[in-house]
Amino acid sequence: MTLDEFQSEAQEIGDAARQVLESADPVERLDVVKGRLNAAIAERLTALQRALGKLPHEDRRSAGQGFNALKNRLDEQLGDFERRQAAAKGAGERVDLTMPAREAWRGARHPVTLVVDEIVGIFRELGFTVALGPEAELPWYNFGALNFPPDHPAMEMHDTLYLEGEALLRTHTSPVQVRTLQRYEPPVRVLIPGNVYRRDFFDPSHAPAFMQIEGLAVDEGISFVDLKATLSEFARRFFGTAVTRFRPSFFPFTEPSAEMDVQCQLCGGAGCAGCKGTGWMEILGSGMVHPAVLEAAGVDSERYTGWAFGMGPARIAMQRFGLPDIRLLYDSDVAFLEQFVR
Ligand SMILES: [Zn+2]
Repeated sequence: MTLDEFQSEAQEIGDAARQVLESADPVERLDVVKGRLNAAIAERLTALQRALGKLPHEDRRSAGQGFNALKNRLDEQLGDFERRQAAAKGAGERVDLTMPAREAWRGARHPVTLVVDEIVGIFRELGFTVALGPEAELPWYNFGALNFPPDHPAMEMHDTLYLEGEALLRTHTSPVQVRTLQRYEPPVRVLIPGNVYRRDFFDPSHAPAFMQIEGLAVDEGISFVDLKATLSEFARRFFGTAVTRFRPSFFPFTEPSAEMDVQCQLCGGAGCAGCKGTGWMEILGSGMVHPAVLEAAGVDSERYTGWAFGMGPARIAMQRFGLPDIRLLYDSDVAFLEQFVR
């Protein structure tokens, strides 16, 4: 073999190796590709190394340099292939940002829940905690303990949904007042949200099942001043107006009793369709807890006094969101409910 033949064989071996590596798929296993590379050039490489020793002395130096250059070229080519392989692997793991996102369905809180949560939040800052009670209730808790006389019309079949046996579906959240006072010593400040049931027709302004939210504060020395101040502060925070009025009313479980109105925030008191021309919105019923209710719950009515209120968050939601029909709140119409996504 002459020096020229030696150099051109080195060139050809390098070319053969390049051909194998360039045609290899980067996702192939490295040892498989190396096996194919060996099959293509290993024998020729060994033969070339042997030929190096048989060259005339004066040619050996440049032939040796040629052989080393070939080895470097082979290393570089294999390195190139390994880099292509790494890049291909990384591409497989990369997130394709151009792919459209899967549409996520975002749930929303129900308008009545939004109102309840806001009311609870305000009263929580005023020192109230939340209390819950059973929706299937005993008549004593629903009526008797709350100072309803035994012949009160609210207890008639046409007003109350009675269950089999002794229970009924509670007609208000007030039984939880009694249950709370039985369980905890005053001072007590609780907010009681929950569902109540009445034999009402399902019409634009009535529903047979609806949310009520009730508040109770019992402590030594509590007076009507506390009631008025707390509920006026609530009105200021919730409705953005401090203008309230209290009208005398009657409930069996409070004495004295009062309805609280807030000035219509739509017309500022001038009178509009929203307030039926009165300039006021009826918000809640309230009063000082009747001593008979405190006694029924085992609280010393000589030592403690308290006040309570109840309101309908569905009515408030209707006013706040301008809803013409209470039944919208029960339809579970997604198109309607999605308007309240916050
Ligand atoms: Zn108005």
